[in-house]
Amino acid sequence: MDAVVLCFHKVGSQKKEGRRLNIDPRRLDAHIRFFARRKFQFLRAGDFQQWPDRRSVCFTFDDAYASTLEYGRPVFERNEVPMTLYAVTRLVGMTSSWDGELARPLADWADLKAAQAAGHEIGNHSGNHVHLPRLPYVEQKAEIDLAHEDLASHGIASKSICYPYGHQDEQSRLAASQAGYKVGMALGKRLASPDDPRLAIPRIVIAFGDSLPMLLYKMHLRPKLK
Ligand SMILES: [Zn+2]
Repeated sequence: MDAVVLCFHKVGSQKKEGRRLNIDPRRLDAHIRFFARRKFQFLRAGDFQQWPDRRSVCFTFDDAYASTLEYGRPVFERNEVPMTLYAVTRLVGMTSSWDGELARPLADWADLKAAQAAGHEIGNHSGNHVHLPRLPYVEQKAEIDLAHEDLASHGIASKSICYPYGHQDEQSRLAASQAGYKVGMALGKRLASPDDPRLAIPRIVIAFGDSLPMLLYKMHLRPKLK
């Protein structure tokens, strides 16, 4: 059965975080409640090692922004469901330098460890937010291994990887596999299927303006309008 795997970034009001790569916490809450009311099972990314046999949804957040922990995490806990966060390990506690002048604060190790302790998953988003396929294999592997080790050294057993920018190739998947990952998150404009390579699961990006009808359009109608 297909699964709903969603990709978000920051969480905050428009006033605090703008509209780019952000979602308002009230809208996030509405999206979570929509799936909860319909008895979807809420999975962490690492749970996709075993493909679910019932309706499932997974909320993932790239980059582990400080705002995602501050305003997003309470929304999940209020609904008693887990989230998955992807940390750029060399920049934890600093800012998202790859965003240029729009750089925003990133969660620190204490935030990430507390989130893991509360039942959320913290995964690998590379050491330095690199475009993996632009690098030779040894450098792709070094970036993935570095993040894996950084997480482990802070007591975080990462069970999945998310490729920065959603960009990955065969060598990225091989390097992820060599690091022990069985689940990898990419991007795609459709639901995830059990036939997708488990190391390149497509996620649908949800934007600030995506009300529930837009979310449903992206899940069910847009894939048919190609
Ligand atoms: Zn990212």
